[in-house]
Amino acid sequence: MDYKKLYIGGAWTKSETNRFIDVLNPYTNELIAQVPDATEAEVLMAIAAANDAKEAWAQTAFSERVEILRRALEHFKSASEKVADVIVDELGSPIKWSQRVQVGSVIEDFEDFFETAKDFAFEETYDSYTLYKEPVGVVAAICPWNYPVSQVAAKVIPALLTGNAVIVKPSSETPLSAYYFIDAFHKAGIPKGVINYITGSGSRVGALLAGSTDVDMVSFTGSTEVGREIAKLAGQNINKVVLELGGKSPCLVLEGADLDVAAKVVMNSCFLNTGQTCTARTRLFVPQDLRAALIEKIRANIDEYKGTNPRGQNVKVGTLVSKRQKQIVLQYAKSALEDGAILEIGEISESADCLFDPIVFTNVRNDMKIAQEEIFGPILAVIEYCDLDEAIRQCNDTTYGLAASVIGPEDAAVQAAKKIKAGSIRINDNSAGGSAPFGGYKNSGIGRESGIYGFNEFVEIKVIAKDNTAKSH
Ligand code: NAP
Ligand code: MG
Repeated sequence: MDYKKLYIGGAWTKSETNRFIDVLNPYTNELIAQVPDATEAEVLMAIAAANDAKEAWAQTAFSERVEILRRALEHFKSASEKVADVIVDELGSPIKWSQRVQVGSVIEDFEDFFETAKDFAFEETYDSYTLYKEPVGVVAAICPWNYPVSQVAAKVIPALLTGNAVIVKPSSETPLSAYYFIDAFHKAGIPKGVINYITGSGSRVGALLAGSTDVDMVSFTGSTEVGREIAKLAGQNINKVVLELGGKSPCLVLEGADLDVAAKVVMNSCFLNTGQTCTARTRLFVPQDLRAALIEKIRANIDEYKGTNPRGQNVKVGTLVSKRQKQIVLQYAKSALEDGAILEIGEISESADCLFDPIVFTNVRNDMKIAQEEIFGPILAVIEYCDLDEAIRQCNDTTYGLAASVIGPEDAAVQAAKKIKAGSIRINDNSAGGSAPFGGYKNSGIGRESGIYGFNEFVEIKVIAKDNTAKSH
């Protein structure tokens, strides 16, 4: 793959820029590749190409769009080993996790979206009108680094199926693996301009896309801070915006909970992907009388989640994405100590590399920085409680509202879940599955991805009144 190219108007073309972004392997610290920091002219070319393509794509029969995406899926599957390999290098994500989760979820996404598409009505008939769902037009998809291909897929697949043209801007930390995803559409023969790929700095290329009057919608996944900027830019043009932002999600353990399940849920969620998951359950609320037993279960298993060489066999956790991220995580760990939290399990990794072992703080108050701010590293904050209502109040005492878990007897867990203000809540170890809508309350975002609700974000609603003149005479 030639990473110095951009995908514009149906062709991989060498960028004319003289600025390139270094992509580093966070485990070896080696330079793996450079990608273009695209010029303004190239961004405008991509926007123009998408605009040229959008009408014909919108008019293309739905079955034909599905057919092209099915071909793209086959090409993506053929490249999947390579893609996983690239994710190991650019993100520091272990090989098995890269294959099973990072790449596997893209393949599942295709299938889930095909399934959802079957039930999606582009036309609905009512007594006095017909409702049409039309593509919004040109969608800018601005993506983060923590799931570098699946976050792209979560936007591109539904946007294309509903008839939009797309311009993808990946994160500058991890722009490489998505080249193969885009190339799968190229190989599938998608009409030129329907999908475009532009690498480059977020504050320049991302902002150009988000603020363009020739872009109709911005679908963004990333930090709340940048999401706010994007919403301002899109707001200038009264453009549609979907924001999938950060989280500080609670795991609420109830009396009667299976503590093995609780330990497993919270460790998988908070420590896998080195804690760099937007839905990570980073605040563990536990009844006072269960605290010691639960902590011991976590202590007994935490070594499995130690960061190591992502190329190693059976490795669960690799590195953080970058040295910059390591510094951020370190500062949070130190702030926890300054705020009076107790480092209950693990040691703070201060090495010069990107490895960071999971740590658990107890004696945490919900108003401490580590309980309020998204860290994006494997740090668990344990908050014990005596009164469930008070615990639920604290679960909700956050600016975020992306996800939560409740661990305990099912009925009680569902009752508690109903009181938690978050978009996706798991009961014990169950998941709602890939076609459930996903998104956040409060500062965790606007809108939903996946499923029918996700599709609805990518369409405009048109109502055409029925002509009842004949009847009224
Ligand atoms: P980020 O810094 O907000 O960046 C996200 C994307 O926005 C990148 O492509 C970035 O480009 C671009 N960008 C940066 N500044 C911009 C600007 N001023 N205008 C337009 N685009 C701009 O987030 P990140 O560090 O990559 O990802 C981590 C964050 O994503 C976390 O907060 C996490 O919670 C969130 N996240 C949320 C979800 C969800 O579904 N809710 C899923 C995954 C991650 P550059 O890389 O070139 O700066
Ligand atoms: Mg990197």
